[in-house]
Amino acid sequence: MTKYSREYYELDAPTVSDIEYDRLYKELEFLEQAYPQYKLTNSPTNKVGSRSDISYDRKFSSYKHKERLYSLDNTYSYDDLKLWYERIKKNYSLDYDPELVCELKIDGLAISLTYINSKFVVGVTRGDGIVGENITANLKTIKTIPSELNQKIAELEVRGEIFMPKSSFEKLNKYQLDNGLKLFANPRNAASGSLRQLDPEITRSRDLAMFSYYGRVDSNEIDIKSHSEMLEFLKKLGFNVNPSYKVCKNIDDAIDYCKYWDTLRQDLDYATDGVVIKINNFMLQSELGFTSRAPRWATALKFPPEEVSTIVNDIEVNVGRSGAVTPVAILEPVFISGSTVQRATLHNFDEIKRLNINIGDRVLIKKAAEIIPKVICVTEHARNDKISFAPPQFCPSCGTKLIPVDGEVNLYCPNHLGCPEQVKARLEYWVSKDCMDIDGLGDNIVSQLVDKGLVKTPADLYKLNVDDFLKLDLIAEKSAQNLYNQIQTSKNPTLSRFINSLGIRHVGKETSILLAEKFKTLDLLKMATLEQILEIDGIGDKIAYSILDFFSNSFNNEILKKLDLYGVKPTENVSISNSDLFKGLVFVLTGTLSDTREKFEELIKINGGKTSSSVSKKTSFVLAGENAGSKLTKAEALGVKVINEEMFNKMLSTGNVDIN
Ligand code: NAD
Repeated sequence: MTKYSREYYELDAPTVSDIEYDRLYKELEFLEQAYPQYKLTNSPTNKVGSRSDISYDRKFSSYKHKERLYSLDNTYSYDDLKLWYERIKKNYSLDYDPELVCELKIDGLAISLTYINSKFVVGVTRGDGIVGENITANLKTIKTIPSELNQKIAELEVRGEIFMPKSSFEKLNKYQLDNGLKLFANPRNAASGSLRQLDPEITRSRDLAMFSYYGRVDSNEIDIKSHSEMLEFLKKLGFNVNPSYKVCKNIDDAIDYCKYWDTLRQDLDYATDGVVIKINNFMLQSELGFTSRAPRWATALKFPPEEVSTIVNDIEVNVGRSGAVTPVAILEPVFISGSTVQRATLHNFDEIKRLNINIGDRVLIKKAAEIIPKVICVTEHARNDKISFAPPQFCPSCGTKLIPVDGEVNLYCPNHLGCPEQVKARLEYWVSKDCMDIDGLGDNIVSQLVDKGLVKTPADLYKLNVDDFLKLDLIAEKSAQNLYNQIQTSKNPTLSRFINSLGIRHVGKETSILLAEKFKTLDLLKMATLEQILEIDGIGDKIAYSILDFFSNSFNNEILKKLDLYGVKPTENVSISNSDLFKGLVFVLTGTLSDTREKFEELIKINGGKTSSSVSKKTSFVLAGENAGSKLTKAEALGVKVINEEMFNKMLSTGNVDIN
């Protein structure tokens, strides 16, 4: 346990999952109760763990908390939650159901703020609960921390969680990636890294926020009797209190709240790892008091882990469209975060070595960024006499000798044109939704077209006739005609879509939009200089060089020429207004719209707006199509303006967002 605590808190590199740690913690608690003579004085069950990155690197001066900060007990089971509640009722002979307050457990960093004469004077990390680190200067840069209260108060302590919104985390990691900097593992690490900056201006640029969930004030000055009253009071003073909190009349009510948020939490723009359940009445809270590390009047229900255990049945080697050869774990199918997973990325062969993973091992997997599953660690090695998995020397698709590329961990197949898997991967990407969006041309058809030697490059698609499709398995006259028609009608995509389809390294959907906005035509983009590309906010050296490389490659130019010859011409961006109509506005799309979401996102972006995946107070408009679900409900609850497609089009045609 001590090793795991150190890895987690001091090295920020846990080797076991939270659920595994919490299971061991409970076992230790049980053993210590059964054999108190063996309990160590420095047992983890006695203390509040602290995160080293802030508390021990001595960048900041230490600060002793006036009142101790505690951790929270936790459970993953609703039955335990009921037991906790029943125990309180029994131990304190309560013949009524004490009221509870449920709040989302924000996965960030706990801090304590002190206000004297209504002014923010000092902000400190939790540390070990007794001594924290003084990070006042950095906290002063966070907009959701008021520098002055809306009301006169002699002394007030407020506690809360500092976090980085998921959308800001993604942006930050994109920046890190583009600039060759180290990526942050998750929003909590990013928030902690941003708070530990010696230069507060860096913290300011990182878009951190705080939810306040605790206030302490002299009762002679202000008499507050319950936690919910305190939360309302904090709101009045100007603090950001998470609007999702709820007063529950009993534990069943609280469990309903947990179940509700367990399904909706993915839609939030911040990470939450559970629900904190607190006794509402302050008098009862003080009667219950604290253990050596946590309050008895509160507990946390942790959401079921997004990490599950399964077996690696095989390790397959894939060849991607860039020629990169990557290993993939073929798993015993397992259900995680809403879907059944059978494959998980292993990234590269160094990662296999690092994880010491082999066929037959039991592993923990999780959904990275909640989409692509990845293997976190091996929990049990297979017992059979297995042969170690060795990286291949030859391309599994075409047999060409693989080569390393300077500064990269992946091995590459250099046979770009002749390697069927690479050709297929590039074509699958070309026809996909975010690219040329050629409906009906699925992986199977692409695969057959390549295997039969009909297509080698995207340009070849536009030479195909109906008879060519009839040569494929299970394609009848009607489908052949449809496929031909779909290809023909895809010939004039927007410029940003076309750029995205080219598959230039490091250039995705967002960057393609930026490039289309700046250069307006493909010809101008082809002639762009390094300086012109770097003028674009959000594009760094790595991307810029990759664009220049792409357009200076004779093979790529050959394909571009052929595409042009076959009539594949992106629409120029000149006619599409580069307007600022939506500047400063954030849209959330929900329900079924008349066209793809990507098309609407593109329209919003080229008119200066932004899109977000979740509704919050910062959302300007929710664009709702048919069968809109929880986002619409949330928008209505938060009073966010909801518009339909007709209203959206009216905004565009009139150039006015004040529609009714
Ligand atoms: P915690 O994060 O589980 O819970 C306590 C914290 O919750 C508080 O300090 C506060 O920062 C936060 N919090 C968020 N929202 C809150 C709200 N609305 N009200 C009150 N508090 C709120 O506890 P911890 O002591 O910081 O960390 C212990 C946990 O860390 C363990 O349970 C385990 O899951 C994890 N851990 C994992 C490993 C590992 O190796 N994987 C090792 C050590 C600890």
